[in-house]
Amino acid sequence: MMVDWSEETLHDDLRIKIRIDRLLFDSKTEHQRLMLFESGTFGRVLTLDGVVQTTESDEFIYHEMMAHLPILAHGNAKRVLIIGGGDGGMAEEVLKHTAVESVTMVEIDAGVVEFSKKYLPAICKGAFDDPRLSLVIADGARFAAETDERFDVAIIDSTDPIGPAEVLFTDAFYGSVKRCLSEGGLVATQNGVPFLQSDELTSTLAAFRKLFRDATCYLATVPTYVGGPMAFGWGTDDETLRQLSEAKLAERFKASGIETRYYTPAVHRAAFALPPYIEDMIP
Ligand code: SAM
Repeated sequence: MMVDWSEETLHDDLRIKIRIDRLLFDSKTEHQRLMLFESGTFGRVLTLDGVVQTTESDEFIYHEMMAHLPILAHGNAKRVLIIGGGDGGMAEEVLKHTAVESVTMVEIDAGVVEFSKKYLPAICKGAFDDPRLSLVIADGARFAAETDERFDVAIIDSTDPIGPAEVLFTDAFYGSVKRCLSEGGLVATQNGVPFLQSDELTSTLAAFRKLFRDATCYLATVPTYVGGPMAFGWGTDDETLRQLSEAKLAERFKASGIETRYYTPAVHRAAFALPPYIEDMIP
């Protein structure tokens, strides 16, 4: 019996194959090729232009670390901006924070949202029906440059800097994000796997160092983002947000009442401990 494989071609000298047990969807949207399949270990897997975006099995690691860490660090996040995040997994984690009053999600591809609502309920759950969520189908860079709204936390849950997301890794975009943060606001970015995508991290943090008083990254390993720990860019003018004690974080985490499978206050603090090979990538 012929076995099908989904081959990821993101890296020049590394090919990753995931077995396709059942192909559920494979077609082009207005912006990208969208494929969904089931695969033993990973459950349902979403790829865009052949690159793994999210899987039912390990999405919790990425979404918990990009949602709970910045929100609990901020401590008083009422208005949250998500750029990208079409699968709904990020919004789902952010909306667990009952103190969050509004979430604005700006996704360029309506096809990804419609599709995720239908095929990825285990990831987005009821997020798209939450009255606090405002979904804007638009280019995130344009939205950030033009909006009058201000946000306490901005989460950039984008694809890699190829195609529609290229603009989300530019200095101009980061300047716009800074502009739409409220005082003491915080931005966290998906910044690739440094061992294989060091340029992404270096260029983002070069921009952040010019824009923010506190600019660095934190780490978490997501099994289907191959190549070691993934980096999340961190930028804020409030230098105290990264100095919070584990006890303070634990107090906030307990008060949130949120249950997690990856995030803890100790994991939060440890995520900022960078090995020298990554520290050396930060300009
Ligand atoms: N976790 C994934 C990763 O790390 O690669 C990202 C997941 S999420 C599905 C990425 C989303 O970013 C996609 O739905 C894509 O359509 C969206 N996106 C890409 N470029 C965008 C842009 N310029 N503005 C808004 N959304 C964009």
